[in-house]
Amino acid sequence: MQDNQNLHDRDLAVLWHPCTQMKDHETLPLVPIRRGDGVWLEDFEGKRYLDAVSSWWVNIFGHVNPRINAAVKAQLDTLEHVILAGFSHEPAVRLAERLVDITPPGLSRCFYADNGSAAVEVALKMSFHYWRNLGQSGKTRFICLSNSYHGETLGALSVGDVSLYKETYAPLLMESIVVPGPDCYAREPGESCADVARRQFAHMEAALSRHAHETCAVIVEPLIQCAGSMRMYDPEYLRLLRAACDRQGVHLIADEIAVGFGRTGTLFACEQAGISPDFMCLSKGLTAGYLPLAAVMTHDRIYQAFYDDYERMTAFLHSHSYTGNPLACSAALATLDIFESDDVIARNRELATHMGQAVAHLKDHPHVAEIRQTGMVLAIEMVADKARRVPYPWQERRGLRVYQHALTRGALLRPLGNVVYFMPPYVITPDQIDFLATVATEGIDLATRD
Ligand SMILES: *Cc1c(COP(=O)(O)O)cnc(C)c1O
Repeated sequence: MQDNQNLHDRDLAVLWHPCTQMKDHETLPLVPIRRGDGVWLEDFEGKRYLDAVSSWWVNIFGHVNPRINAAVKAQLDTLEHVILAGFSHEPAVRLAERLVDITPPGLSRCFYADNGSAAVEVALKMSFHYWRNLGQSGKTRFICLSNSYHGETLGALSVGDVSLYKETYAPLLMESIVVPGPDCYAREPGESCADVARRQFAHMEAALSRHAHETCAVIVEPLIQCAGSMRMYDPEYLRLLRAACDRQGVHLIADEIAVGFGRTGTLFACEQAGISPDFMCLSKGLTAGYLPLAAVMTHDRIYQAFYDDYERMTAFLHSHSYTGNPLACSAALATLDIFESDDVIARNRELATHMGQAVAHLKDHPHVAEIRQTGMVLAIEMVADKARRVPYPWQERRGLRVYQHALTRGALLRPLGNVVYFMPPYVITPDQIDFLATVATEGIDLATRD
């Protein structure tokens, strides 16, 4: 017999949950989920939760999507997995062809991995190895932005700057060059986000002049630093960065793991700056939240620097067991089919406008410093002091109060610190957005009351 309490207890007896202080669950109940349906998650007692965070930003076309289900089921009866070294299969080839087609110009090669952090590791290693193959082994460092996040494995953590995840492990990490970023929340009165981007780019310019000789690549999250509290910046920064990297002989890695596949209003965020990176990391929405898969897209110049006789030992000898898993590739292909047939980007534009309107009233809230939005990501920054933008002390866990309230109302809103955000599956309706806005408003009122 399966019910909420039963699964809850069995879970806490054996599981160790991600990104969780397990002691919290002495007072904070786990939410056991029995089934999903579109934007909804349902527990064992029939209570439903609107998945406003796309189950950690992965789900883009709803849970148990009939079209993706059909594709994965068909693949399951054909080929579940095969080694991708020395062997190949149709879904991996077809997906690579389509990714080459839809990603920015010049990205003509696809290297698979099985999660986002692994894709970042691949891009870092490939960049380093490219320079080494060219005889430039003095290039060993990476430049990243303040407040950046690129995953949790040691290499990925090394190029991140969110202290909550990084600080403890600092003694284990390589030392990256962290440059103050273009976060538009820090704008001065009268400044536009493009002004901030240009002003802050001076730091990058200085770091590149000083460190280009020892730097493999600059890694950024285009337009939105999602794990860094959904801080946003202007595409101008990416244009300047692309040009400066070219001038200085440094690669540009675009980590589109969270922002790719339509989140920012275009299929890929780099499109808004009209740039092509040297490496583009993709995961999360790639399979619409179905199965773990990642891809690193790169261009022919990189590929050719590894292409030689075996004895010259220039090959990229990196692998993951589930590289290019056929089931995951079939989910990704079905995802791209939906983008193609449903005019998703245009429909999202309407949903995004609706999302902005639905929370516009919160602008005047005494504890809301900013509502910011880029495409299908909307964030509301709660502060102790609105005029001076003084944040709440993190120990007060105001966001957690919003989370708990939302659960009672049937919504999964999982704030990042004091930032409440919507990053819903694209199958959400305007009415459901209104419901989220109501729940968020109630939650913010409650969380900022004292
Ligand atoms: C989630 C995320 C990653 C890491 O992906 P995982 O699959 O969780 O390892 C890397 N970069 C960005 C920008 C992300 O949002």
